[in-house]
Amino acid sequence: MARKFFVGGNFKMNGTLSSIKEIVDNLNKSELDSNRDIAEVVISPPSLYLLPTREHLRKEIEVAAQNVFDKPNGAFTGEISVSQLKDSNITWTILGHSERRTILGESDEVVSTKTKYATDNGLGVIWCCGESLEEREAGNTISVITKQLDSLKSKNPDWAKIVIAYEPIWAIGTGKVATTQQAQDVHKAIRDWLKGVSDKVSDETRVLYGGSVNESNCGELSKQPDIDGFLVGGASLKPAFVKIINCHQ
Ligand code: PEP
Repeated sequence: MARKFFVGGNFKMNGTLSSIKEIVDNLNKSELDSNRDIAEVVISPPSLYLLPTREHLRKEIEVAAQNVFDKPNGAFTGEISVSQLKDSNITWTILGHSERRTILGESDEVVSTKTKYATDNGLGVIWCCGESLEEREAGNTISVITKQLDSLKSKNPDWAKIVIAYEPIWAIGTGKVATTQQAQDVHKAIRDWLKGVSDKVSDETRVLYGGSVNESNCGELSKQPDIDGFLVGGASLKPAFVKIINCHQ
């Protein structure tokens, strides 16, 4: 089955009202593959800017939070709920980004629980996984990712609502992109692992690559059979993001 190309833009904790308006204006006026139904595009500004982004952005591009909590409402200072996002037409969230895992201490269990809650309640999840440089050099890349995936599977989430982003930590924000072969090898391993959920989930789940993707390297990466799109950090803040959206042949 053909998997629709997917490009996510993760703004992280960057931007101001005016700089995000510029990004939105640029996306609104550009010729995009999202408009031709070739690519699905989701951008993820900081939570403060979710609403103005949703309000001004062209409708076929969706908006994602960078995190969500696993309770419906209540005394959880600093958190945002799935229902609040949906109430604001925010239809996706990123979960398990390595910056949340490493800097904010989110465990596999926390990420998996949130993913289960979000997908069960109708939110799309860009679920991130990836290994550190030490783990790669020790030959543990696949076992690290398998452990993250096993934790997710144990919660029995709604796989139809999940897009997986493979993001080697050593490639995020460093300018060091994985080679096309390194990326394809891990994506293939993820695709094979997904067969253990079901053949349908393996065929249909998009697996994105993330880590220093830019307008020069996206073309080659996108030709790999198991790379179904990108999660883009730094380059999503620049006009060249349009070229990444449109890079799929
Ligand atoms: C990211 O933060 O998800 C990411 C991939 O960042 P960058 O593209 O800047 O490496």
